Amino acid sequence: MPRTPSRRTVLRGLTVTGAAVAGFDPAARGWAADASGTDASGTDGRLAGTPRLDGTLTRDDAALGAASDDYGHIVHHRPAAVLRPGSVRDVVAMVRFCNEHSVPVAPRGQGHSPFGQAQVPGGLVVETATLADIGPVGPDSTTVTVGAGARWSEVAGATLAHGLTPPVFTDYIELSVGGTLSVGGLGGQAHRYGAQVDNVTELRVVTGAGELVRCSPSRRPDLFHAVLAGLGQCGIIVEATLRLVPAPRTVRHYHLAYDDLGTFLDDQRLLVQEGRFDYVEGQVAADADGAFRAYTLEAVAYGPPVGPAPDDATLLRGLRHTPSGVRYEDRSYLDFLDRLAPFVAMLKETGLWTYAHPWLNLMVPGASAAAVSAPLLDALTPADLGPGVVLFYPLLRERLTTPLLRSSDEPVSYLFDILSAIPPDDTAAVDRRLAANRSAYEAVASVGGTQYPVGSVPFTRADWRTHFGPAWPALEAAKRRYDPRRILVPGQGVF
Ligand SMILES: Cc1cc2nc3c(=O)[nH]c(=O)nc-3n(C[C@H](O)[C@H](O)[C@H](O)COP(=O)(O)OP(=O)(O)OC[C@H]3O[C@@H](n4cnc5c(N)ncnc54)[C@H](O)[C@@H]3O)c2cc1C
Repeated sequence: MPRTPSRRTVLRGLTVTGAAVAGFDPAARGWAADASGTDASGTDGRLAGTPRLDGTLTRDDAALGAASDDYGHIVHHRPAAVLRPGSVRDVVAMVRFCNEHSVPVAPRGQGHSPFGQAQVPGGLVVETATLADIGPVGPDSTTVTVGAGARWSEVAGATLAHGLTPPVFTDYIELSVGGTLSVGGLGGQAHRYGAQVDNVTELRVVTGAGELVRCSPSRRPDLFHAVLAGLGQCGIIVEATLRLVPAPRTVRHYHLAYDDLGTFLDDQRLLVQEGRFDYVEGQVAADADGAFRAYTLEAVAYGPPVGPAPDDATLLRGLRHTPSGVRYEDRSYLDFLDRLAPFVAMLKETGLWTYAHPWLNLMVPGASAAAVSAPLLDALTPADLGPGVVLFYPLLRERLTTPLLRSSDEPVSYLFDILSAIPPDDTAAVDRRLAANRSAYEAVASVGGTQYPVGSVPFTRADWRTHFGPAWPALEAAKRRYDPRRILVPGQGVF
């Protein structure tokens, strides 16, 4: 039933009221709150069509406030309601409902996007954290099926108990499976195994039309390929089946210092083309003069039962790091995967975690990597970066097989990240970084590169077309088929 105007708040065209959702007002196209302030699950005929749910649908201030923010703290769009699904059925029911009423929807994993990608003004945010079951794993498993809201740390915990592991991890493992599979999921192992999206054998997806579909490379492949690295545009991943490989017990983690950008990049390229290490990444830091000229190549060799006991002479043969610039530690594999935990704890303790993050993530074609990145590094100051990091590491084209994960056409591309952290009230500095991100993107696009879309780069619809290049027509066709009312994930700005 339509509610009286005195009990309504208007949010960007949707009319909602009160603290917890009691129903949908079809006349006003808005959610209405239950006068009691309790959530909507289990409520009945008073609802104007809102489905009965196993979980909760809420619009209390804390839930809406959290859903209007993300790791970037730059963009703030308030949704009308938040769904905490008690089941996949809830996601199906609410997406169907939103599709019928043309209400926009965005899934949210850990909300670690930095630029509003999981936000949805006046719409429904689906928090996937409650969909975090991890299926059975045994010593002979080749795959594991997990809920999209599971974090990679939880997946690692479950599989390592059986000596198995997903082959590729992001540097930070508290991200959701659905969140990284919707962007790509890159890490130092990607030069060997591809991205996380290249290691998925099957998905269960709720399409924008509210259909629950199982898809794989051989079953509804158009949906499978539109969802992996598809920025949530065609469906919400509710479950993913991930490939597993044997895990090492320990690893040797090298840090090799370089004082020349070209040499650093050449050695990185050599290592990934040879496949000498299991993991290759790198960082650029400011030297004593504040210039970004201190390069560290990070390389990790897996020990038994995956690889032989590491031999320094063999592993470091022919590398051109500075003579005294070799440091390594032996650590457990899990400790290695979770290596950012102490750093993140420190950032949280000191309040730096809540800084604004106008992040730049670029895919730079190998042949232009030094020429394109040198001026960007020259222009960067320690104040621009704040307590952030600069990352630089190579990826092999032949290993990146997911059509929507774009790199460059060259055999080697470099992921080049300037991950700034800026006091959130310094909006002028944030704006300067956003403008710098845009011009850096243009410089890279002019030589055939693009962005890795997990950052804060102002992007138009035309830019997305360019970004997806030859993969665009299939994405557009899948969007028409699976999300015909275009309700899914407007925060990406793709359609
Ligand atoms: C500290 C930190 C370290 C990082 N390190 C890496 C790294 O090493 N490698 C790397 O590749 N990336 C890295 N990232 C980027 C990260 O992978 C992406 O931002 C990722 O999307 C975040 O996951 P999330 O669970 O927080 O997703 P969210 O921010 O919640 O969502 C991201 C996007 O995906 C959509 N989405 C979320 N869940 C689903 C779903 N189930 N189905 C469909 N769409 C969905 C959302 O609507 C949104 O558009 C890092 C980010 C942070 C903050």
